[in-house]
Amino acid sequence: MAKILLNPGPVTLSQRVRQAVADSDYCHRETAFLDIQREVIDGLGAVYGCDPQSWATVALGGSGTTALEAMLSSIVGEADRVLVLENGVYGERLAEIARIHGIRHQSVSAPWGTSIDLQAFEETLDGGAFSYVAVVHHETTTGRLNPLRKIADISARYGAGVLADTVSSFGAEAIPFEHPALLACAGTANKCLHGIPGLAFVILKRELLNSASRPTSLYLHLPRWATAQDNNSTPFTPPVNSYLGLREALQELREQGGWPSRQSRYTTLADSVRQALERNHVAPWLEPAESSCVLRSYRIPAGLNYSKIDQGFASHGFVVYAGQGGLSDEMFRISTMGDIGDEDTVRLTAAIDSIFENR
Ligand SMILES: *Cc1c(COP(=O)(O)O)cnc(C)c1O
Repeated sequence: MAKILLNPGPVTLSQRVRQAVADSDYCHRETAFLDIQREVIDGLGAVYGCDPQSWATVALGGSGTTALEAMLSSIVGEADRVLVLENGVYGERLAEIARIHGIRHQSVSAPWGTSIDLQAFEETLDGGAFSYVAVVHHETTTGRLNPLRKIADISARYGAGVLADTVSSFGAEAIPFEHPALLACAGTANKCLHGIPGLAFVILKRELLNSASRPTSLYLHLPRWATAQDNNSTPFTPPVNSYLGLREALQELREQGGWPSRQSRYTTLADSVRQALERNHVAPWLEPAESSCVLRSYRIPAGLNYSKIDQGFASHGFVVYAGQGGLSDEMFRISTMGDIGDEDTVRLTAAIDSIFENR
């Protein structure tokens, strides 16, 4: 029985990505590898049709948090202020990165799972002299999809640019790259793009590469990476095998019809999971209309706890995910990203019936 990952990354790989990862050994200074780096960087930018003249795609070794930390610390200068929107673990992480890097910032916070109060956001922005707004697009803590376009509209009215954590939405949700206020997005290979962990990236407006003041980190400084990569080089040892996997995964994404097809595939899977859970009286923690197509959160029914649910799914070959922090007693999460086939879905809904029936 093949194990299927239903946690929000790393994901179940397709056979071709799994093979590509170990296909061949490369020195990262070989032309053959640098061509692959070029292909991956161009391919990442092309997912949402970003024009390479105005957008730089910078790929660097690390997890999604690396990309977030590189984005904030490279773009935001000493004279800038950032307004951070928080309604979950990852919004709080953006504020923590700002704090650690000594970035001047203020937060508009909402309890985990609730929507961002756009009026409070606008009132704080008004007169606050913020250069940037930092926000999580898909808040994986609860599955909530924050309204990135509306946030960009509001930010634009006050002259602030948006720096977005799109780590768990890039490749499967609409991202308004054409919006003039959206200046940068951070992502990773191992979520909706279906690659392996190790490679993170930031897609940012090229002019931001010059705006940053002095480097505050050797490794995380995006201009250093961008300059090297624009010259088909690399400043440090890159995650070579992650590049091999992501090249194949991007090829597969293109063949499947790009992010819109992935969005509809995830939505179909998420809806079939929800229907199976609902017929067994397991309720969504957050309304589907407010949720992403990538991950949905559910209430742990009375008489069950997470460990029993986790074991139940594990006995059928599925890895599910607990709620974070204070939500671990009341919530469990199911992500439908990764290479999940129709047979897996049939097996999954049958597993749900057997785990939750007669409760
Ligand atoms: C997964 C994730 C991250 C990054 O997590 P890492 O463990 O560093 O890869 C950041 N933001 C969101 C919204 C995520 O889902």
